[in-house]
Amino acid sequence: MQIARVALDVPLRRFFDYRVPEGERMSVADIGCRVRVPFGQRQKIGILVELATDTDIPLAQLKPIESILRELPPLPAAWFRLTRFCAAYYHAPLGQVMLSTLPAGLRALAPPKARPLRQHIVDVPAQPAPLLTCEQEAALTSMAVGKARAYLLHGVTGSGKTEIYLRLIERCLAAGRQSLLLVPEINLTPQLEARVTARFPNAGLVSLHSELGEAARSRNWRAALTGEARIVLGTRLAVFTPLPELGLIIVDEEHDPSFKQQDGIRYSARDLAVFRAHDSAIPIVLGSATPSLESWANANDGTGRYRLLSLRERAFEGARLPLLRCIDTRVDKLQDGLSRALLLAIEQRLARAEQSLVFLNRRGYAPVMACAACGWTSHCHRCAANLVLHLADRCLRCHHCGFEARIPKRCPTCGNQDLNTFGRGTQRIEAVLAERFPQARILRVDRDSAGSRRQWETSVATIQRGEADILVGTQMLAKGHDFPKLTLVGAIAPDAALFAADWRAPERLFAQLMQVAGRAGRADRPGEVLLQTQFPDHPLYAALVRHDYPAFAATQLKERQQAGFPPYAHQAMLRAEAPQMTEALSFLATARAGPESENDPLVIFYDPVPMRLSRRASLERAQLLVESPSRRTLQRFLAGWVTRLEAIKASSRLRWHLEVDPLEF
Ligand code: ADP
Ligand code: ZN
Ligand code: ZN
Repeated sequence: MQIARVALDVPLRRFFDYRVPEGERMSVADIGCRVRVPFGQRQKIGILVELATDTDIPLAQLKPIESILRELPPLPAAWFRLTRFCAAYYHAPLGQVMLSTLPAGLRALAPPKARPLRQHIVDVPAQPAPLLTCEQEAALTSMAVGKARAYLLHGVTGSGKTEIYLRLIERCLAAGRQSLLLVPEINLTPQLEARVTARFPNAGLVSLHSELGEAARSRNWRAALTGEARIVLGTRLAVFTPLPELGLIIVDEEHDPSFKQQDGIRYSARDLAVFRAHDSAIPIVLGSATPSLESWANANDGTGRYRLLSLRERAFEGARLPLLRCIDTRVDKLQDGLSRALLLAIEQRLARAEQSLVFLNRRGYAPVMACAACGWTSHCHRCAANLVLHLADRCLRCHHCGFEARIPKRCPTCGNQDLNTFGRGTQRIEAVLAERFPQARILRVDRDSAGSRRQWETSVATIQRGEADILVGTQMLAKGHDFPKLTLVGAIAPDAALFAADWRAPERLFAQLMQVAGRAGRADRPGEVLLQTQFPDHPLYAALVRHDYPAFAATQLKERQQAGFPPYAHQAMLRAEAPQMTEALSFLATARAGPESENDPLVIFYDPVPMRLSRRASLERAQLLVESPSRRTLQRFLAGWVTRLEAIKASSRLRWHLEVDPLEF
């Protein structure tokens, strides 16, 4: 009898065996097809992973496959290797990994109807490519065609990295292979999509991201699998797209934390992309103005793991790098959060009809309300966090669980009517600027004002048409858009990250400030960036002002080496959440106390501790960090550990997950 081994989306670390019904013949050519199978009282869609002749299940209990779905080509072998690697590396159930990478439409018993991909009947003329700069030329010459190699392309914003991507895609198309281009944010896809399509109008570019409708996502995914689409542009989940003729992977803004999935299977799409390229023996390019320190180390540690290519100048003629300057706020005292120097600079821009951006990574009006009489503060009752005052929406809002409350007219504890607000968010800065510059058109761009794609696109269009004079924005606005009239950026409160408890905070700060600086000045208008700080001599700012990422990275890496932090150590985080902190901590203590933890001196355990945000949405959260200087040792340990964790009898109210290579602490 033929036995079909099927991967299903269930949290169990095994496959499920089914009988191939009489009259249905299956062959190895069917492996990778979807099948419809009975499961419990219902049916499920699974993936055929193997055909066998025997099984451990008593034959009488073996249920038949309901049907095999052959309308799509089977998933290719490389896709199996990628999902297997992902499951093994992140210690997640393989069936779950496999099924969760399919578009929901292809997992559904009744898939939505999709319109076919637009057919281009007439050839659209392609936009001509510019002549390469010397630096671009040199970088491209170093990238051997078809060679299996990882490249780190380091270049400031505007240095022409995207142009290099386009040239590589061109080569790849000419060689008859498919290209995969990954970007960190959905917001960045339309712009890049337009640019790639203009250059390669007939390559059947498809995009894949979570905001596509289910039908469109299935259709695009299918076009990738059939080979109809030669270029796939997508966010992190697109790393799993089956591409039978894949010849090139590009990861743009490779340092961006958005490449790390933050729930479910916590994978890094960048790291999986590196595996995938290596496994398929094709080139991969990781591009960034501020590479992650992990990638930077890989390119500079002398092992030649990554080849470093640098672009130091902006690509178009006459474009200069923005001029960065610190404003010492001990001298130029802030008024309502703004220095005189910044106000003056904004005034100049207004006079010249240029745009200014005031950058602040904190949304809302003020981060907390408080009563001076009794000490009451606006606190979320479900989280260990403040409720943020949102005047624009007339509410107090928790940024962690979304809880909202009316703004109290008097102190809820003592009745005092004179409540204070502390600190500044984007709304408050917007109000201050409106008062200072009543004639200016001010546009706030943060998750509150531009949370949906449509709002975001409206804001971007407004800015690009020059219909706003002063922009107040969070990091949202820092990413990858050309605003030709923008010549001034003021970062008004960057200091907090310098001394944050999270040792990755400086790396993120540097990247953010570089990125936001990259918005200022293009073409004929040089940009100016003002940093309001109490620590103008801080080495981070000193490197930033010189546009010297390598110097910054070298200092950071030295510190990490001394402290034994990644990339010089490899980490995994076990997190638990439960209604009571004691439950969460005791689970972690049990997890820690197992026999394997004593066996290997190379596996280091930290103490179970409450997380920094120790309560969220009424659940207490704790974490246990495990570390090893050797990735392999850590992986071997985790493989055994996770099985034991699954066997621990814990309260049904307790949830836990394991994250490999955690980014946040
Ligand atoms: P990055 O991706 O590094 O930010 P881009 O590739 O987007 O840089 O290039 C920045 C700007 O310079 C774009 O407007 C692009 O069209 C232009 N550009 C890039 N390369 C060249 C070139 N070789 N000659 C002229 N303009 C170029
Ligand atoms: Zn009070
Ligand atoms: Zn909350």
